[in-house]
Amino acid sequence: MSKGLPKRSEDYSLWYNELVKKADLAENSAVRGCMVIKPYGYSIWENMQKELDRMFKETGHSNAYFPLFIPKSYLSKEASHVEGFAKECAVVTHYRLKNSEDGKSVIVDPEAKLEEELIVRPTSETVIWSTYKNWIQSYRDLPLKINQWANVVRWEMRTRLFLRTAEFLWQEGHTAHATKEEAIEETELMMNIYAQFAEEFMGLPVVKGIKSENERFAGAVETYCIEALMQDGKALQAGTSHFLGQNFAKAFDVKFASKEGGLELVWGTSWGVSTRLMGALIMAHSDDNGLVLPPKLAPIQVVIVPIYRSNEELDAIEAKAHEILNALKPLGVSVHFDHRDTYKPGWKFAEYELKGVPVRIALGPRDLANNTIEVARRDTLSKQMVNLNEVDLKTFIPELLEEIQTGIYQKAFQFRQDNTTSVDTWDDFQKVLEEKGGFISAHWDGSSETENKIKELTKATIRCIPLDQQKEEGSCVYSGKPSSGRVLFAKAY
Ligand code: AMP
Repeated sequence: MSKGLPKRSEDYSLWYNELVKKADLAENSAVRGCMVIKPYGYSIWENMQKELDRMFKETGHSNAYFPLFIPKSYLSKEASHVEGFAKECAVVTHYRLKNSEDGKSVIVDPEAKLEEELIVRPTSETVIWSTYKNWIQSYRDLPLKINQWANVVRWEMRTRLFLRTAEFLWQEGHTAHATKEEAIEETELMMNIYAQFAEEFMGLPVVKGIKSENERFAGAVETYCIEALMQDGKALQAGTSHFLGQNFAKAFDVKFASKEGGLELVWGTSWGVSTRLMGALIMAHSDDNGLVLPPKLAPIQVVIVPIYRSNEELDAIEAKAHEILNALKPLGVSVHFDHRDTYKPGWKFAEYELKGVPVRIALGPRDLANNTIEVARRDTLSKQMVNLNEVDLKTFIPELLEEIQTGIYQKAFQFRQDNTTSVDTWDDFQKVLEEKGGFISAHWDGSSETENKIKELTKATIRCIPLDQQKEEGSCVYSGKPSSGRVLFAKAY
């Protein structure tokens, strides 16, 4: 039972939108481009946050919080930064409303104009580096490794739930270092942490790489990223880590007294992942029946659905269900017994399928008599009878969850393998992009001009220059000019 989801093969985009809404993840709000994240969706995001936060802290970062509003003058201190973000900034100009003269509405009070307009943060480099100026005086104050969990606003014109919203939730790390080498090391470390999180927890294989100049963060010297492939053959930038050089230290005059007694500019990094990861998770694994969640992020890992006719039957099943709950909960398995009598088992089955609960246990009177349970896997939709006289649930369920986690990753990995094509001619490039999509590995001459031309002709952009690949000389797939290595092209979200 698919609860009326469109099929992916018929309309992938509609399938995605409907799934987000029907699985109770999020919905649109009164403000275009802003979304309401519903409790079920938010609990997946919380699970992501929990793991990422742990990984950040394990690598020496601390959380802090900086203001939502940035004085307009701050933003313009770093030239390329303001240029990159100016087009999508929300600006606060007034601080008060008043009744209109006819008393029928409220209007902005022209008397309450701010002396300096405020920007709603699109990212916080400027406000953070203006603060770091006060925090950093000497080499003893370094490195400074701070993260904040926050919302940001980028006035995007074309929005999609989770993937691209005007307001989104994210974390942004901002670190300051005494040397270039240390800052680059940090940039790479955070890219690796993002990749590890994506692969181990989201079951999402990613390509680690460097962005071309066109796609680089405004204000960065180098942008590292992780790129993933969605089931419709489009790529998604899943996380970025920027080496900022001394750009923001220059803009905000952040200098430190070095060990040798000199005065030097500080080196910086920033890195972020957002609620876009929710979109990645949905698009990478889910099917025509609904969500497929990796157990490590699923709010409910195991659901028990009773099948009964009479109250006596339900009582007996309830006792058995509690035995199972008591066995699994201490192991850290998130297990839920759905004893609601307001819904039929078939409805519940479809509901948990839609919501991507990895394992479903069905318990009926016959199971009680035989000491069995019916176990269904969400990822493969397969079912099996498990005889509890022979199998210990305390090992069976954790092993099954592990198997599902690995299976989901492997399926996505295989999909990416099958949809990454190496091409050497412009004809092949266009043909593969048109007929198959996916990642196209091709030679590029390194110029923005060529990249722009390719984008103009095909909508494909350079997703990244992969880090894990062998050096290979060749000639550019479009211009024929010499190339020092292959890059990954794709149409992207
Ligand atoms: P950036 O600061 O541009 O490097 O972006 C940091 C992270 O936020 C990246 O992982 C982006 O994919 C993600 N991101 C950027 N814009 C949006 C948006 N409008 N909605 C959701 N996530 C976004």
